[in-house]
Amino acid sequence: MLVKIVTLFLVFMVVMGAVQRWINPKRKIGKRDQTRLGRPRKCPECGRFLIGTGTCTCKN
Ligand SMILES: [Zn+2]
Repeated sequence: MLVKIVTLFLVFMVVMGAVQRWINPKRKIGKRDQTRLGRPRKCPECGRFLIGTGTCTCKN
């Protein structure tokens, strides 16, 4: 019984993933986007991490 529930849950997850890919294929996060988001940018002047707009406070 428990195995059947787990199997149904897995099938449900796969179906939901397929439906979401089908609804917005452009919004899916690919491997390239993950690496782009995961790579932190640093200020070339002071070396601090740039968050948000990308302008560092050391230049003000
Ligand atoms: Zn800086």
